[in-house]
Amino acid sequence: AISPKEVIRSDSPQELPAAPDPAVKVVVRSRPANGHERGDSMVRKVSDDSVSIADRKFTFDSVLDSNSTQEDVFQLVGVPLVKNALAGYNTSVLAYGQTGSGKTYTMWGPPSAMVEGHSADSHQGIVPRIFQMLLSEIQREQENSEGKQINYQCRCSFLEIFNEQIWDLLDPTQRNLEIKDDAKNGFYVENLTEEYVTSYEDVTQILIKGLSSRKVGATSINSKSSRSHIVFTCVIESWCKGTSSKCFGSSKTSRISLIDLAGLERNKLDDVGREYAKEGKNVKKSLSQFGHLVNILAEGVRSRKSEDIPYRSSSLTHLLRESLGGNAKLTVICTISPDNKSIGETVSTLRFGQLVKSIRNDPVINEI
Ligand code: ADP
Repeated sequence: AISPKEVIRSDSPQELPAAPDPAVKVVVRSRPANGHERGDSMVRKVSDDSVSIADRKFTFDSVLDSNSTQEDVFQLVGVPLVKNALAGYNTSVLAYGQTGSGKTYTMWGPPSAMVEGHSADSHQGIVPRIFQMLLSEIQREQENSEGKQINYQCRCSFLEIFNEQIWDLLDPTQRNLEIKDDAKNGFYVENLTEEYVTSYEDVTQILIKGLSSRKVGATSINSKSSRSHIVFTCVIESWCKGTSSKCFGSSKTSRISLIDLAGLERNKLDDVGREYAKEGKNVKKSLSQFGHLVNILAEGVRSRKSEDIPYRSSSLTHLLRESLGGNAKLTVICTISPDNKSIGETVSTLRFGQLVKSIRNDPVINEI
């Protein structure tokens, strides 16, 4: 069991230097064709940052084709995330795409690739890689702290949004949790389990436990199709022991949010049960509310009243609030399939990626 330690918060607002990478980054990744698919995909990578479908070209920050490795994704997305998180930025990665396009593989990889002893497994997803780097950077920082003793504390939680309800993946008896957003405590999910982690093994235990509690069900598209969004969060607090002037500015708090969204597919509900129809509707609704929020953020929020920014329109948008705007760095990984039968979903995934790319990072969002 992991025991909580004393928590010391920074009372003064964080003044952070501008990080070199953009506030919102969009990366597209295509998975390889599987045995049933023909190798005649209409989706083509045309350069390091663009992809074409027929005569239409879409440009992003980076495009990774089916030859890309998990390490490539980590270098592109995970390494800057860890650096930004340690510098005090709220950082998020969000995987968006059709079921079967590679969200789970990209984010988590197979559970067998997470466990101790398999840490060099080439299939390991970016989330375990991020925590391997984060925890070793923290250890290095504590050892080389040049006369100031920096303490770090990391606490993790893992939740699922299923049918618009928030479930605690670390305590499956906790369902329908509420998001609280008050002036005193800020933003939090009431009664959500938080576990303190000090080692990579602590993190893998939490990941494996949470992922095995995730709701999965069979659909006509993919037997492992998921109808829920999952959010793994780690809050990192650091502070300096002592009163030395070297301690100045070393208290920081930042949040890493890793979000795997439910599949974006058009509902093929004819051969699935009524329960799935309801779940599918809720998934569709929350993804479209998220799209609506992104649309508004892309138009710019300065001229809008706070009540016009629909953060509270769904559990997902509410939880994403701290991932957008101000002191936040968001990377969206749009996963696409090379299968021509999925062209409709691929185009809508790429359109969504372009919309996210046009979000203006407006510090005023933090005040809303
Ligand atoms: P999703 O989470 O979007 O439903 P998955 O991650 O489960 O999709 O991927 C579907 C299948 O494709 C899985 O068998 C997965 O291992 C495989 N896959 C996905 N992306 C890749 C990739 N980049 N390289 C190799 N296999 C992949």
